[in-house]
Order: sequence, then structure tokens, then C-alpha cells
Amino acid sequence: MARCFIGLGSNQDNPASQVSRALEAIGRIPQSVLRARSSLYSSAPLGPQDQPSYINAVALLDTALEPVGLLDALQDIEQQHGRTRKAERWGPRTLDLDILLFDNLTLNSDRLCIPHYHMHARAFVLYPLAELAPELIMPDGTALQQLLSECMSDDLVRLPAPPAWLES
Ligand code: ATP
Ligand code: MG
Ligand code: MG
Repeated sequence: MARCFIGLGSNQDNPASQVSRALEAIGRIPQSVLRARSSLYSSAPLGPQDQPSYINAVALLDTALEPVGLLDALQDIEQQHGRTRKAERWGPRTLDLDILLFDNLTLNSDRLCIPHYHMHARAFVLYPLAELAPELIMPDGTALQQLLSECMSDDLVRLPAPPAWLES
């Protein structure tokens, strides 16, 4: 099994519910086991500013799938959540699921860049990731704690856990 971290984000149609339901769907991916999930975070949008703020989280999944098989499964879940890809980069979306890390793999293909190409500079990725794996070392040898110390986190807010009856 490979140890894989997945970044989740949403800013449309009840984002906290989108992320919570996506975590449940990730838990149903074949040949995989959902090991942990971070708290939810609120973050300011990247790119166009005339859109709502985001809810983000990170999940830890053990998987026997190949990276592309996992991407297919994640894109299926995005589709089920009504994700449409528009021309505008970083526009509003119901659900974004990105593969952040896949064991110690480094991969650059047409469909996949692992580690995710911009995770090192995104507070909404690094902080939830650090909840799950504070001692993590990136495939290039950089410590996660080093990346955190260099990253602006002004707009990031960790949200309190919702009561169980409010989930999904
Ligand atoms: P960003 O990649 O900056 O976070 P985004 O998540 O909004 O932007 P998408 O529209 O979700 O971008 O994805 C565009 C393409 O990125 C996907 O079709 C997928 O093939 C590719 N991609 C490359 N690397 C990854 C990765 N590590 N995880 C998910 N998708 C990836
Ligand atoms: Mg993304
Ligand atoms: Mg994406």
C-alpha cells in the first residue's frame, strides 16, 4: 500500500458539507483505506478574488491503486459533486481533490505532477497536512516544518469540529 495525502477544497454549494461528503466518498475508493482526516480550514481564494472563501482539508489514504488510478477515482468523485471545469483558472468549484504526495514518489506526466506542483507554498495545504504528519519530509528532502515556517498563513483559519449531527 502507498501512503497518499489528498488535498480537498470547495467554495460552492455548502462547502463544508461538500468536503465532509467527499471524505466519506474517499473512504469508499476501492483497494484503499482512509486512515486520517484533518480539521476543516477556511482560506481566502487563490486567483480571482470575486468568489467565496474556501473550505479545505487533507486526508491520508493508504492505497494499492496506481497514481493514475487514484486520480481517476478522485475525478469521479469531483464529477459526482457537480465539478465543472471552466476556462478560468482557480475559479469557484464545488469540489477539488488534488493528490499532494504519493509515498516518496516524484512524477511528472501529462495528467499528474507529484508532489502537487504548488503545495509547498499553500498554507491551506501545509497546515492541515501538518496535523496528520508533523514530521513529514518531502521527496526532495525538505522538512514540512521548514515549508510552514516560510509560508504566509494570514488568511487561514482552522475551524472547530462541528457537532456530529451536523456532519454531511
Ligand atoms: P491547482 O492544480 O493549481 O490546484 P486545480 O486543482 O483547480 O488547480 P484542476 O482543474 O483540478 O486544477 O486540475 C487540472 C489538471 O491537473 C487535472 O486534469 C489533472 O490531470 C492535473 N493534475 C496534475 N497533477 C495533479 C495532482 N497531483 N492532483 C490532481 N490533479 C493533477
Ligand atoms: Mg487544486
Ligand atoms: Mg485539482
